[in-house]
Amino acid sequence: MRELQDDAVVLRTYKSGESDRIAVLWTRQHGKVRVLARGIRKTTSKLGGTLEPLAYVNVHLVKSRGDLYIARQVQHRERLTTLRSSYARINAGYAVVEVVDAIPSDDVADEGIFDLLARVLLTLDNPEFEPSLVPASFFFRLLAHDGSEPVVDCCVNCGREGPLVAFDAQVGGTLCSECRSGYSISPEALALVRRILGGDLGAVLKEASPPGTGEVMTLASDSIEQHFGRRLRAARSTAPLSPLPTDR
Ligand SMILES: [Zn+2]
Repeated sequence: MRELQDDAVVLRTYKSGESDRIAVLWTRQHGKVRVLARGIRKTTSKLGGTLEPLAYVNVHLVKSRGDLYIARQVQHRERLTTLRSSYARINAGYAVVEVVDAIPSDDVADEGIFDLLARVLLTLDNPEFEPSLVPASFFFRLLAHDGSEPVVDCCVNCGREGPLVAFDAQVGGTLCSECRSGYSISPEALALVRRILGGDLGAVLKEASPPGTGEVMTLASDSIEQHFGRRLRAARSTAPLSPLPTDR
């Protein structure tokens, strides 16, 4: 395809040459694409400020050499000013785009992933919602999208309903005391992960730090790492929080 116009989320960017930048995008209908933004690091560039990590944009691209596209026009779909005003929200966003960037599916479009990604950005931009459990809930949604959602309503090994005392991402969910492996899970964390997976996410994200939050973040990161088979740096970072990296 010579030209394309599509909605996209910027996963990451890196410098190229004197004043150019390459942006890696997840597009709605064309999967992951790499885009060269010529002159974008000059103060006069009309693309300035558009192809930044976590930007939600509409792009008009023209094919260049190899699999690289050139950015002709880029417009914000949403400015995401609340997201950008908070390191906690920005870092939650980074944890999400890093995982999407690790999905081994170049050139394979997946509109479901785009929709999840766009919804994450809008959630992080909404001051009603707390950011801390957004990455964990996104990881579970992404696993469900791939048909790999962890089992949390019974023992994944023997099917017993409880008591469930452990979680093992390698086995794929919660375990009873007979079958236990992985690490212990508290009743609070079990209740929380069931709420997230069971359709109560909107209410969960309005709570500042519900009991079990730390455990759920860890088991969500473990599950997504297990799924993609490598360690994901941002998925694991819970700590605050350095200023935004800049390549200008
Ligand atoms: Zn069991």
